[in-house]
Amino acid sequence: MHKHHSALGLATAPTGTTGAVVAKLRPVQPVTLLRPHAARRAARFFVEKFPGRPMYAVKANPSPELIALLWESGVTHFDVASIAEVRLVAGIVPEATLCFMHPVKAEEAIAEAYHVHGVRTFSLDTEEELAKIVRATNGARDLTLCVRLRVSSDHSKLSLASKFGVDARDAAPVLLAARQVADTLGVCFHVGSQAMTPAAYTQAMELVRAAIVEAGVTVDVVDVGGGFPSVYPGMEPPSLEAYFAAIHEAFESLPVSYSAELWCEPGRALCAEYASLLVRVEKRRGEELYINDGAYGALFDAAHVGWRFPTELVRESGSDAKDMAFSFYGPTCDDLDHMAGPFMLPADIAAGDYIEIGMLGAYGCAMRTGFNGFTAGESVIVEDEPMASLYRTETEPAVPSNVITL
Ligand SMILES: *Cc1c(COP(=O)(O)O)cnc(C)c1O
Repeated sequence: MHKHHSALGLATAPTGTTGAVVAKLRPVQPVTLLRPHAARRAARFFVEKFPGRPMYAVKANPSPELIALLWESGVTHFDVASIAEVRLVAGIVPEATLCFMHPVKAEEAIAEAYHVHGVRTFSLDTEEELAKIVRATNGARDLTLCVRLRVSSDHSKLSLASKFGVDARDAAPVLLAARQVADTLGVCFHVGSQAMTPAAYTQAMELVRAAIVEAGVTVDVVDVGGGFPSVYPGMEPPSLEAYFAAIHEAFESLPVSYSAELWCEPGRALCAEYASLLVRVEKRRGEELYINDGAYGALFDAAHVGWRFPTELVRESGSDAKDMAFSFYGPTCDDLDHMAGPFMLPADIAAGDYIEIGMLGAYGCAMRTGFNGFTAGESVIVEDEPMASLYRTETEPAVPSNVITL
């Protein structure tokens, strides 16, 4: 991963770069930097290269602009998990197909989704949930029902293994019951977020095979869920093509592949590069920087699961100082508002400096609260490259254009 310490060319910085934003706004509140071109590139990649249908998992970043942009880029299906997400997406892209993929739903939410918003696809992991869906839809015959299997999260940085999913060896009764009701029957799983190897999917597909063989049912959809990675310091995954190839191969070897559809539900991979955060250093205490956003803002994962994000000093004069490791304190009065990092920044960083924290489009802005009165400032569209990318092609410069020189 490259890291750059931008010198702000006040006169020469093209508009639409991170440096220009600092030069122009000198923002007192954290600024969200949006890169629509990066989200568009990610969407096109999934639409063109995933060997099946990608749907966007809205919880990763529910911003209306992003949802509209993904739709315009060819993403036609959206994975929603709450009735509020159903209403949100239905209001922005009424023609989109919504799939309600939370295995535990309120009956009222199922009813509204089905009767008001035209949702036909639901996931479940018990016969009780199936009964809820049947009641809430008045015994509808046009349902796509996806049975969620529990699979290992061993290859992922964030587990999704304990809360949802029926064990493959206990899945037969649920699969058979859902087959009776469903017009279209699917099997879905989630390997955990930020899966660091394609083997996570290959192994999960073996459980799909075991479950459908044991139950003796035909399934019409195999949905490999989310978990596709992005790039962060210390977490550099293989190429997404390698994931797609492994999934394609595992899918083709299933007994249902001749008739079934393949789906996936990327959240993080579609939006991580979409946004970054510009913060100001308010105080320095040794190796600790007090910045104006934190655990209750866009940095929840940095605080609570020790996630590391790339950082870059944004200063008019740049810096020749060597990098050293810093940790961050957020702006609230809470000791928990602490991000251990390490975040690598020049040793001469001081109060008043700005830092860009990269790769925050997924599970960043989406988690923000207004605790203690600290909220986000503006969102600004920039045209420079995200700090890292899984999508930049060979022909584009290896060094991102947000290195601004005088
Ligand atoms: C969170 C979630 C996703 C998206 O996961 P990522 O790791 O962000 O790709 C997809 N499907 C379901 C059911 C989820 O809960």
